[in-house]
Amino acid sequence: MSQIQLSLSPQQNPADRSRALFTAVIPPLDGEFLYGYDPEAASDLSVGDVVEVPLGKRVTHAFITSLNSDREAATRLEMEGRSVRIRSVPSDAPRAHAFNQEHLAFYEWVARYYAEPLSKILDLAVPTPTTGKPLLGYRLTEAHTVGAAQPLKRSPAQSAVLEFLSRSQSPIESKLLQSSCGASAATLRTLVQKGLLEQVPITNSLDCPPTPDLSLIQAPILNEEQLAAVAAIRAQGGAFTTTLLQGVTGSGKTEVYLTLILEALTKGRSALVIVPEIALTPQLTERFMSRLQQPVAVLHSSLTPKERWRHWSDLVTGRVKVAIGARSAIFAPVANLGILVVDEEHDSSFKQGDGIRYHARDLALVRAKLSSCSVILGSATPSLESYNNARAGKYLHLRLMQKYHDAATSQFKIIDLNKIKPWEMKSKSISPEFFSGLQSALLRGGQAFILHNRRGFASYLQCSSCEYVVGCPHCSVTLTYHRQTHSLVCHQCNFTMVPPSLCTGCGAREAIDPAAEPVFAHRGSGTERVHEELQLLFPTARVAVLDRDTASSVQDYVEILRRVREREVDILVGTQMIAKGHDLPGVTFVGIVDCDVGLHIPDFRAAERSFQLLTQVSGRAGRRSEQGYVILQTRVPTHPSLLLTASGEYDSFAEQELALRRQLHYPPFHKLLRVIISAPDKTVALQHAAELARCAHTLSGTPQIQTLGPAPAPIEKIRTMWRYHILMRSASIASLQHAMKQLKRIHQSKGDVRISYDLDPHDML
Ligand code: ADP
Ligand code: ZN
Repeated sequence: MSQIQLSLSPQQNPADRSRALFTAVIPPLDGEFLYGYDPEAASDLSVGDVVEVPLGKRVTHAFITSLNSDREAATRLEMEGRSVRIRSVPSDAPRAHAFNQEHLAFYEWVARYYAEPLSKILDLAVPTPTTGKPLLGYRLTEAHTVGAAQPLKRSPAQSAVLEFLSRSQSPIESKLLQSSCGASAATLRTLVQKGLLEQVPITNSLDCPPTPDLSLIQAPILNEEQLAAVAAIRAQGGAFTTTLLQGVTGSGKTEVYLTLILEALTKGRSALVIVPEIALTPQLTERFMSRLQQPVAVLHSSLTPKERWRHWSDLVTGRVKVAIGARSAIFAPVANLGILVVDEEHDSSFKQGDGIRYHARDLALVRAKLSSCSVILGSATPSLESYNNARAGKYLHLRLMQKYHDAATSQFKIIDLNKIKPWEMKSKSISPEFFSGLQSALLRGGQAFILHNRRGFASYLQCSSCEYVVGCPHCSVTLTYHRQTHSLVCHQCNFTMVPPSLCTGCGAREAIDPAAEPVFAHRGSGTERVHEELQLLFPTARVAVLDRDTASSVQDYVEILRRVREREVDILVGTQMIAKGHDLPGVTFVGIVDCDVGLHIPDFRAAERSFQLLTQVSGRAGRRSEQGYVILQTRVPTHPSLLLTASGEYDSFAEQELALRRQLHYPPFHKLLRVIISAPDKTVALQHAAELARCAHTLSGTPQIQTLGPAPAPIEKIRTMWRYHILMRSASIASLQHAMKQLKRIHQSKGDVRISYDLDPHDML
């Protein structure tokens, strides 16, 4: 079909009156575009369809955002100064379906909240449709029904596949079938060879996955606390409600989610589960798959575009009713959403760190509201934002106080490092009590988790004669010494160099004589060093390290944890990576080498994060019958974060911290907008920052907004960019959003100068 260009004007060609118009968004272009189409030839066109449209001389993908757009839409676009040249789309243009009206409402909400064009949100949220060969799936053959009468020798995986398919009215796509039943491709081939299965193409019609048969599911029997939680949430009748499920590590929150998800599924609704790091929690994913008897779309960052689109289209059509994924899964087009779970809701990975800096937990509430469904925020250490809302009665506040495997509460001991003389220490970082606690745990056959939230060997190198510290040439931070690779590495920009033998500060040169004192002294310690010390102190123990250096890929990470689970490791030293929800029954000792790392960071959330990390790590000890022992080494033994971690008093900590936040006008009582201005030239950065600040001051002339800055950011330079920031705060989010919108109109990144807006910032550095 030829493509006719029409221009919409009062003298529009009468012959085109019968044509219908649709509005579309074409990421990454801003604004909306109007297209004409023949409504009779494309009567099934709907909002959320991705169509191939002409744009200038090329053909591109467009998302339909409204149909039957009329002349008013055209006039509106014209008045907004956006071109309204109407193009026509051939009725046989290839098309796919990406979202429905409900999802679009959510994307539009996000666009308004962060004052970004809808096209940017779609660009971020929705994958590009991929076309290709039709997907293949499997279904049972007639022979299967006949064969079912005479029992045959079958492996458990084969039986699982047959059982699964017998409950499904439609074929199930191959990969989904494999993951849902724990079967391999070979299992499926064998079943085909036996004549029990056949392979068929998957159509795009609305096939339904099997409804879980609750009588067949081997669910654990919930304890009283779990039952009470389920009952309280169920009593909300599936309408929009937010529940904060505050339950200590191992109290069985996941079982509560699973029970409620199953209930939603039996009602024909679907479920979305957001977790901090999907790739790092394969067990959790497996648990969901095996328990729900449903295909589960697992959305993670290493999917190919084709796989991503397949999951996407399975969800939007309702072929798959359960999605589990990290931050960006909040945009997944789960149809007819019945329940949304945000596990470990306090986790900082839910906040996007660049581009559109959205927060998946905050968006979960909006999404649930738009879909009229219930949302559960689960954590042992809720964010102060959620805790405050729960306390104010905005959320249903439920608690699970007991560990399921009624393990005795761990015993905590705070070690004041100020009181120990250097020569009394067992090694540079290990105090005598730490040593003996660890020793006795190992002697009794336990495993140990040692937290040291810093990578590398030494935090920095310092010249012994002039005190010069070796810094990164591109960032205003010191370089960390990594002994494994004998290199100095910048943890901001990854700049790497061989350690110098000459001090650029005073010219001191490394002596030829190896016995002489080296020019550069190692200051501060990281996981590498703690590893070395522990290996020297416990020569027969098997010590492993889990941090971003030893586990740079997901496979490495999974492998290290497998070794721990299978008892090939006695002591695991690691950064915060060891704090994530691993259920490892062998761990009886947790040692925190330096609780003060992370406490003295210029960020109002430092105490909260520190409390959460220490509590989460401590929760790794004693997850079964044996009592756990936790040692916390510190130089500030009276810090509330520490004392209350040791006594397990989350609520007291939260109350104290909230009182401080209220007094200092910080979130959750006041909302923040942080604007970061950076440029390669320090003066240019400052000039722009000052100009923006002036603008912000005029805008915030109203008493509702207070503007602070510009000030140099705590990390003044990153990747050769000098950074300044401006902080605006207000009790009214609407005023802040309004100000941000105005500012964005005038101040955008241009040339060398980068401006980024962070509403509800979490990173203050
Ligand atoms: P959380 O999510 O709160 O950390 P989990 O749901 O992972 O806790 O439960 C911790 C452990 O207790 C898991 O091994 C889980 O299988 C087990 N568990 C929890 N609830 C039950 C139950 N009702 N019956 C049997 N085992 C349970
Ligand atoms: Zn650097």
